[in-house]
Amino acid sequence: MSASAISCGAPGASPARPPAEAGTAAGAPVRYFPLFLDLRDRLVVIVGGGAVAERKLDLFRRSGARLRLVAPALSGGLSRALRAGRLEHRARGFVATDLDGARLAIAATDDAAINRAVAAAAEARGIYVNVVDDPALCTGILPAIVDRSPLVVAISTEGSAPALARLVRERVEAAVDESLGRLARFCAAWRARIKAGVRDLRARRRFYDWLLRGPVSDLVRKAREPEAQRLVAAALAAGVAPPVPGSVALVGAGPGDPGLLTLRALRALQSADVVLHDRLVSPQVLGLARREAELIAVGKGGGAHSVAQARIQELMVEHARRGRRVVRLKGGDPFVFGRGGEELEYLVRHGISFEVVPGITAALACAAYAGIPLTHRDYSGSIRLVTAHCRESVEATDWHGLARGRETLAVYMGVAMLGTLRRELLRHGRSASTPVAVIENGSRPEQRVVIGTLGDVEALASAYALGSPALLIVGEVAALGAALHWFGTAPAGFPAREQRSVA
Ligand code: SAH
Repeated sequence: MSASAISCGAPGASPARPPAEAGTAAGAPVRYFPLFLDLRDRLVVIVGGGAVAERKLDLFRRSGARLRLVAPALSGGLSRALRAGRLEHRARGFVATDLDGARLAIAATDDAAINRAVAAAAEARGIYVNVVDDPALCTGILPAIVDRSPLVVAISTEGSAPALARLVRERVEAAVDESLGRLARFCAAWRARIKAGVRDLRARRRFYDWLLRGPVSDLVRKAREPEAQRLVAAALAAGVAPPVPGSVALVGAGPGDPGLLTLRALRALQSADVVLHDRLVSPQVLGLARREAELIAVGKGGGAHSVAQARIQELMVEHARRGRRVVRLKGGDPFVFGRGGEELEYLVRHGISFEVVPGITAALACAAYAGIPLTHRDYSGSIRLVTAHCRESVEATDWHGLARGRETLAVYMGVAMLGTLRRELLRHGRSASTPVAVIENGSRPEQRVVIGTLGDVEALASAYALGSPALLIVGEVAALGAALHWFGTAPAGFPAREQRSVA
C-alpha cells in the first residue's frame, strides 16, 4: 500500500478517492496492514514452552518489550533465557487473565485448543494476537525482517507463503547495504537542521537526493562520518546541494562463477552507470550489472599493454568526471596481479573518489573448485602467489626461494611458461616428483583439471591442450585433488597418484 492511499481520507487531501482504490491493485483491502510498533516496556505475552516459543522470545527480545511467558514446562533454551532475567514466567496452563495488560499475544503451543483460547481471550480484550501456523486465528502476523536498524524492512505475504517472504527477504538482504542503518542515524542527526536550513520543499528534496546518492553516503559507508558531517555543514551554509560527483569502485569479480561475487560487488554492479570490465570477467557476472549501465570491454590478454592500461585509466577518470558511478571490474581480486594499485594511484592523482571491493582470487577459487587445500598440516604450511608471464618476470623471480621447502606455489599466467617454470624449479632443487595441478577455467562449468608432476606436467598440459585462463598449483597438496575433487569432470593425468604416498 502506498503512502498516498493512506492520505486519501486525510483533511485537505483532494480529490478524495473511493476506498476500494486504497487497497491492492485488485481492489481488495490489505488484510494485514503494515505498521511498526513501539513495544519498549510494553507487555507481550507468549504462550508456549517449546522451540517455537523460544524463537518468538528471541524475536521479541529485540523489541525491548516486557515479556511474559506462560507454560507449565520450559525447553532448555527458555529455561536459560529465564535465568538471564527480564522475563516473567507463569509456570502453569494458560488462563485468559494472563493477557491482562498485554499489548500483544503470541500463541505458540502445539495444542490447537489452547491456541484458540489464547486467540479468543486476546480478541475479548481488544489486543492483537498471532497464532503460530494458524492464519485463520491471527489478527496480526509477524513479517520477515531485514534489520538495518533504524532502517527496517518488513515483508509479508499475509501468511500465504512464508517461504516466499523468506526468499524476498534474502533478496532484500543482498540489496540493502549494511551501512544504511548508519546512514539513517546520520540523517536523523541532521534532519532538523536541514529542515530549518533548506525551507523550500523541492530544494530540500534535491538536498536529500545529493545527501543520499552522493559523496556523503559514500563517506558514511566508508566509516568516515566526520568528513561527511563537514560536507553537509558546508552545503547547508551554501544553501544548495552541490552537483553529485562521480566515483570509481575497483571491484573484484572473482573467477567466473557469479555465486562467488561478494554482496558488495553485487551492490556496486547494481548501482553502476558504467562498467569497465576485463576479458576475464564472465558473461554471467556482467549479466548482474544494472540494466541501464553502459558496459565497456577494456579486455586485455596477459602481458603488459601499457597503452591500453593508460587508456583504461583515462576512461575511468573521464566517466567519473561526468558524474557517473564507474565500476572498474576485474577478474579475481583487483590487487592480485590486477594492476589495481596503478589504477588507484592514477585516481588519487586526478582527485577522483574511489573504493575497493575485494574478489576471490584465482588461487583460492581454483584450489577450492579442484579440491586442493592450499595448506595442509601434513604437506604445506605456506602459500606463495607468483606469476611467470614473461621473460622479465622469469628473470626477476627468486627461483631459489620458490624451489625451497614444502611451500605451495600458486602460479598465475603460467601455462605458456610451464617449460621455464619446470626447468628453473628443477634446477634450483625442487624434486621432479613434486605434484603439480593445472586448473583451466576454474569455477566455470567448463573447468578442467590436470594433475601431474613437475617432471611431466608440461607434456600433460600440451597433451590436453590446456589454454587460458589457467592456474598452476605446485606442491604436495596438488596431489590431493585426485581424491578430493568435487566440481566438474574428474581430474585427468595420473589418477594412480591418488594411491601414492605424498609425504
Ligand atoms: N586478478 C586476478 C588475476 C589476474 S592475472 C585474480 O585475482 O585472480 C590472470 C591470471 O589469473 C590468468 O592467466 C590465470 O592464471 C588466473 N585466472 C584468473 N581466473 C581464472 C580462472 N577462472 N581459472 C584459472 N585461472 C584463472
